[in-house]
Amino acid sequence: TLLATPVLALLLGLLTFHLSGRGGSPRRELARALAAREFIPYMQPVMNSQGALCGFEVLMRWRHPEQGMIAPGNFIPLAEECGYIVPMTRQLMEQTLDYLLKVADRLPPGFHVAINVCAQHFKNEDIVAECRAFLTALAGHDIRLVLELTEREMLDGDARTLSIFDALDEIGVLVAIDDFGTGHSSLSYLQKFHVDIIKIDRSFIKGIQEEGPSRLIVENILDLARRMEVALVAEGVETAAQVEMVRRYDIDFQQGFYFAKPLPPAEFSQHFLPQT
Ligand code: C2E
Ligand code: CA
Ligand code: CA
Ligand code: CA
Repeated sequence: TLLATPVLALLLGLLTFHLSGRGGSPRRELARALAAREFIPYMQPVMNSQGALCGFEVLMRWRHPEQGMIAPGNFIPLAEECGYIVPMTRQLMEQTLDYLLKVADRLPPGFHVAINVCAQHFKNEDIVAECRAFLTALAGHDIRLVLELTEREMLDGDARTLSIFDALDEIGVLVAIDDFGTGHSSLSYLQKFHVDIIKIDRSFIKGIQEEGPSRLIVENILDLARRMEVALVAEGVETAAQVEMVRRYDIDFQQGFYFAKPLPPAEFSQHFLPQT
C-alpha cells in the first residue's frame, strides 16, 4: 500500500489533467470559459419606422482562445441544459452595462436594450434583482430594458412565474416574445403573461413581399398586436424591398442585416453613435 499511494496520486493527477485540458467535456469547457469571462456581447441595432436607431439587441458570442469567435447556436443549447446560461447572462448584462455607462450620453432618448433570457431565469427572483441593479446603475439616463423570451421552452403560468413578471413590470422592464409564430405557444403566452413587444420571426418577413401565407400571417399578427396594444419588431429584414413593406405595414421597429449584423461594442459606437 505504501508503494500504491504515489502511483495512485500520479494516476489521479493524470486524470485531472486530461479532464481539464482539451479532452475535457463540453460542460467543463463552458465552466472554464465562464471563469475566464470569454462570453461577450455583440450588439445589433434596432431601427424605428423612420430608419433611425432606437435600440439594440445583445447577442452572445464566445471568444474562444483557440477556436476564435463561436456563434450562440453552438453553445447556448448546452448552456441552457446545464444551467450555466444564468451566470453567463449575468456576465453579459454586466458587460452591457459597462458599455452603456460609457456611451449613455450619445444614445437617442428612450433607447431600448434587449437581452435574451430563457425559462431558467424565471426559476427564482434573482432576475428581478439583476434587472433592478441594471436600471438603477443607469438611473438618470432615458434607457429601457427589454427581456426577450423565446417559445422554445414554455414558461409555466404558475404563481411564482407570474409574480416575477409582475415584479419586472413594476420596475419598468419590458417583455418581448421572440421568434413569434414559430413555437406552439405564441398565443398562450399572450394570454398568460403581460407582453409589451412581439418580435415577428424572420421566416415570415422573408415572404412578406409575395402574396401568400407569410403575408397573411404578418397581417394577422399586426391586427392582434394593435388590438392588444403590443409593439411590433420585424426581425431579419435583409432587403430594401422588405424595409419598404415593413414601413407600409407601419410596423414600429425593425432589425436585420439590411441595417447591420450584430457588431462588437466598439464597432457599434463607431457606426451608429454620434462621434465625440
Ligand atoms: P435570436 O434571439 O432570434 O437573435 C437573432 C439572430 O438572427 C441572431 O443570430 C442574428 O445574428 C440573426 N440575424 C439578425 N438579423 C438577421 C438577418 O437579417 N438575416 C439573418 N439570416 N439572420 C439575422 P445569433 O447571434 O447567431 O443568435 C442566434 C440565437 O441564439 C438567438 O436568436 C438567440 O435565440 C440565441 N442567443 C443569442 N444570444 C443569447 C443570449 O445571450 N442568451 C440566450 N438565452 N440566447 C441567446
Ligand atoms: Ca432575440
Ligand atoms: Ca409593461
Ligand atoms: Ca428572434
